Amino acid sequence: MTTFSDLGLNEILLRALAREGYNTPTPVQAQAIPALMQGRDLLGVAQTGTGKTAAFALPILHRLLAERRRPAPHTARALVLAPTRELATQIADSFRAYGQFFRPSVGVIVGGVSHRPQIDMLARGLDVLVATPGRLLDHIGSGRLKLAATEALVLDEADHMLDLGFIVPIRQIVAKLPKQRQTLLFSATMPREIAALADDMLRDPAKVSVTPAATTAERVAQHVYLVASSAKRDLLLELLGDREIARAIVFTRTKRGADRVAQHLESAGVGADAIHGNKSQSQRLRALDAFRNGRTRVLVATDIAARGIDVDGVTHVVNYELPEVAEAYVHRIGRTARAGATGRAISLCDNGERPLLRAIEKLTRQTLDCTDRRGADVREDDGEPARRAPRGPRGPKGPQSPAPHRNGAQHPRRDGQRPAGTRPGGAPVNGRKRRPNGGARHAQASRPQG
Ligand code: AMP
Repeated sequence: MTTFSDLGLNEILLRALAREGYNTPTPVQAQAIPALMQGRDLLGVAQTGTGKTAAFALPILHRLLAERRRPAPHTARALVLAPTRELATQIADSFRAYGQFFRPSVGVIVGGVSHRPQIDMLARGLDVLVATPGRLLDHIGSGRLKLAATEALVLDEADHMLDLGFIVPIRQIVAKLPKQRQTLLFSATMPREIAALADDMLRDPAKVSVTPAATTAERVAQHVYLVASSAKRDLLLELLGDREIARAIVFTRTKRGADRVAQHLESAGVGADAIHGNKSQSQRLRALDAFRNGRTRVLVATDIAARGIDVDGVTHVVNYELPEVAEAYVHRIGRTARAGATGRAISLCDNGERPLLRAIEKLTRQTLDCTDRRGADVREDDGEPARRAPRGPRGPKGPQSPAPHRNGAQHPRRDGQRPAGTRPGGAPVNGRKRRPNGGARHAQASRPQG
């Protein structure tokens, strides 16, 4: 098995990884780091939760260490572009954690906050700059940042940047970079526009692809309640009565929906916060912080708001409403089952959402376990109603005793060392990485046979 020292990483980084409790490289790290250490460009198909941040951060830090020098004023030696403020902040935190024993200068440029501190920071020059494209362009336009000396560029979550309309700004930024540079592009999916962008930007890239959508879905024990939409609010409260649900993200389709669900939970005494695009930067950070350190148990989010969130120890994802786009389901449930842990996803599906459910099953190549709110099997959309007695200790509390994964895999934590519930940098987060008996139940294990 590959170890981090096999990858030839600088001793100073290995010490930080040991401190962070990372024992073994994840597949994306094992595949990407050697190519990046040789200076190659990289096209990575990997989503959040695979360890992709360290896959690009470590080789960049290794390179900075190999040629230690002060960055010139108004420059950044490495530039990482990310779609959201939250993701940018988290990436910068990861750089700081892995660089903790040599302290590179790492800065974040995002919108929604004042310009002044960013201007001062850029004036000093940075080793690593993590930015969202819009605000970065402002600073480039006003001459406060020059990219002519930037040695490495990373585009993270490129497909999400496409969704947010960042492709033109990205192309404008890339045009300012020197031709001689190392370029990395990561994306969870490869829509045509991203493939074209990769084609234009990358030179003979090494290609790394990990956990296609269906594989991630297999690590998460999934369950669907077929309920009337009017019953969803009560069922959600009932589900949250189960203290096994230590930390949950509840997804809604709309911002208003997120606010309504959060208010409903709060008024029923369940600590909850909503996070979505209408909230200010400080509200979002406060909500995330409270969720991370366990002050609120439930975060109600829209898809866009949640994409960049990286919180360890999310025990459950609840789809209060199914997403319009099946891929979003995979992203949602990927919020639990981080870094090899197993997690649980519960979906509340009303009649009108049945076609969305079918699209999800098609994408993930799984037939999801469906019951009514009392736990009785109901599956009427394939012809004959499949109605059986409630199976197992499920009931209204949701799936409780997962059957073992189809091939017996238990998906243990890869590191086995970093105490459960800590993020890189050691910030404690309450909550568990995985249930003590947390084998994943493969959805097909209980596929209705009829
Ligand atoms: P990412 O996909 O970069 O968002 O990483 C997901 C999570 O995995 C983060 O919480 C990381 O701290 C953690 N992680 C990344 N690499 C490793 C590793 N080799 N061993 C253990 N945990 C890791």
